[in-house]
Amino acid sequence: MATLAERLVEAHNRINNAAAIANRSPEEITLLAVSKTKPASMIVEAYDAGCRHFGENYLQEGVEKIAELSQLDDIVWHFIGPLQSNKTRPVAEHFDWMHTLDRSKIAQRLNDQRPTGKPPLNVCLQVNISNEASKSGVSVAKLPQLAVAVAAMPNLRLRGLMAIPAASNDPAQQRLAFAQMKQLLQQLQQTHPQLDTLSMGMSTDMDAAILEGSTMVRIGTAIFGTRN
Ligand SMILES: *Cc1c(COP(=O)(O)O)cnc(C)c1O
Repeated sequence: MATLAERLVEAHNRINNAAAIANRSPEEITLLAVSKTKPASMIVEAYDAGCRHFGENYLQEGVEKIAELSQLDDIVWHFIGPLQSNKTRPVAEHFDWMHTLDRSKIAQRLNDQRPTGKPPLNVCLQVNISNEASKSGVSVAKLPQLAVAVAAMPNLRLRGLMAIPAASNDPAQQRLAFAQMKQLLQQLQQTHPQLDTLSMGMSTDMDAAILEGSTMVRIGTAIFGTRN
């Protein structure tokens, strides 16, 4: 079985190959290692192999790992899980990025709870791009209004958009949703030129996401192995 370092090399190879096909520089694409359910020791292993961006889905687990690994002070911590409005404080206090913002109520609380002395919390607005009833994310129709509200909050820094499209094994189908995301970002950039992030693509569809302009791929299984 491949080691974690070998799987990381493989993930970077996939990024490089997809970027080459898309005529993009691989440096435009950040690998966000999704370490949810995996022990802190594996984060250290990935860190030693060069990873600096880590994504966590579960609040308690994420906060514990951040505390345990606090000596690795150049790690950038991303919260990528669903968040209830009464659970915002640990995200505001401990994370550097939040990818799943989809309501102004949560944005307001994160803004109010961000400790003074910390830089603004980087945020991506999660878009329900496949329009699934069961999925979180702001609708395409309500996205511009949410972007205006979030961009006005001084302790948040609006960076871009995030999506988890409906799962598909068909690369053409995968690309369709990602292309719609790229278009949404470009529309928003007309009034919010500071937006620079498209958080999209996971282990099974990162190649399609990069072809359509992803700047941050969130990779769990392909690096850390399957989860229980
Ligand atoms: C778990 C998760 C990932 C990583 O998924 P893999 O298929 O393991 O690469 C990416 N993004 C989000 C939001 C996740 O919850």
